[in-house]
Amino acid sequence: MSEARCLPGLRLPVPIVMHIARAYCVQAGKVVDIYQARALFFEQEEPRRRFEFLCSYDTCRSANATRVTGVNYDKLVEDERDRILVKPHFRMNPETPHSVGCEWVARERAEEAADARDREPAQRRGMRSFRNLKSSDFVDVFLPAQLARGPPCESAESSRTSGAGREPTAADPVSTRTRAGRSKLTRVDFLETVVSAYELLEADERREAKLRIGREASLPYNRAFCRVERYFLARGARIFHGGVRVQAHGPNFSVRFFDRVIVPAPMRPGEARELVLYLKREALLQHWNGRFLILQLAEATKPGHYAHCYFFGRVVDHPTLAERLAVEVRSLEHLAFTVRRRAIASKRATTSELISY
Ligand SMILES: [Zn+2]
Repeated sequence: MSEARCLPGLRLPVPIVMHIARAYCVQAGKVVDIYQARALFFEQEEPRRRFEFLCSYDTCRSANATRVTGVNYDKLVEDERDRILVKPHFRMNPETPHSVGCEWVARERAEEAADARDREPAQRRGMRSFRNLKSSDFVDVFLPAQLARGPPCESAESSRTSGAGREPTAADPVSTRTRAGRSKLTRVDFLETVVSAYELLEADERREAKLRIGREASLPYNRAFCRVERYFLARGARIFHGGVRVQAHGPNFSVRFFDRVIVPAPMRPGEARELVLYLKREALLQHWNGRFLILQLAEATKPGHYAHCYFFGRVVDHPTLAERLAVEVRSLEHLAFTVRRRAIASKRATTSELISY
C-alpha cells in the first residue's frame, strides 16, 4: 500500500463523484466501457446476472480491490430519476479507495488543478457546465469509424472485430473515450455515446454546445443532430434521427420513421417519402453489440413503448419500392436507439422538449 497511497474520504481533495469511463469486469476478466459491459450482459442467457466491476487501474485492484458500480447497463428500456434520464455509466464506490497513480484520480486532479489555476466562473473560461450532463461525459468530436472493408449495407455488417478492436482501452488512458485534461477534446466513435450527451443536454444547451463530426466544422448540437425529414435539405455530415415504429418480421426487424423525408427540387418537389431501415438478425449477431440491439428492438415492438432512432449514414432509394427511401449505415456503431415507456416519454416531453423538439 506504500506506493498505492490510499485517498481516504475525509482527506480527499478530489470530488466525491469521480468520472470513471472504463472498469475491469470480473466476470469477463477484462477492462470494458459501459456499452461493452451492456453488450456482454445481454449476451448471457436468462436469468442474467449483474457483473462485478473493479477499477481499471491494476494497482487499485491489487492494493485495494477498488470497486466500481455499473449503473443501468442491464436495462433495455431507459430509466429516469427525478425527470432526468439515467444513461448507462460507471460510478465510483466511495467505500473502496483508489491509488494515487489511478488514471481516474489523475484526471480528476488535473481538472482540480485547472480549477485552482483560474478561479473564474466555468463559462468565462470557455468550459462547459450543463444542468443534466457531467462535463466529463460531454462529447466534442464524433469520429465515425473508417470502414474500408466490405460494402455498405442496410443491415450494417460491422464485424465483432470492430468491437474487439476497441478493447485494449486500459493501456490507453487518453483513449477516444476519455479526457485527460481540460484542453483535450473528447472523441468517440460509438454513436450512442454522442446520443447520450445530446439527450441529456437541455434545448438551450444544445444551441450553445458544439459537436464536430469527422473533419467537418463544428456545429451546435441542435444542428449536428437533424430530423430525418430534413435529410435532403441539410448540408455536410449530420446525425439524423426521428421517432420510429419497430416491427418484427420473423427474426428480423423493420424500423419505420414517423416523419416522412422531404424530397426537394429538382427530384420531385414537394414530395415526402417514407423512410425505413431493415435489420437482419443474422447480421446483427455478427456485431459485438448485436444481441443487445435485438433485445432492445424486440422491447420496442411491445405495446406502450416508444422508440427513437439515430443514425449516421445515408438515405437511399428503397431497393424495390419507389415510394420509399431506406437508411444505409456502414456500421452498427453508427446506429443507436432509445426505447422508453410511453408514460415516461410523454412526461419528459412536457418538461424539456426531449422527445418532441
Ligand atoms: Zn482506481
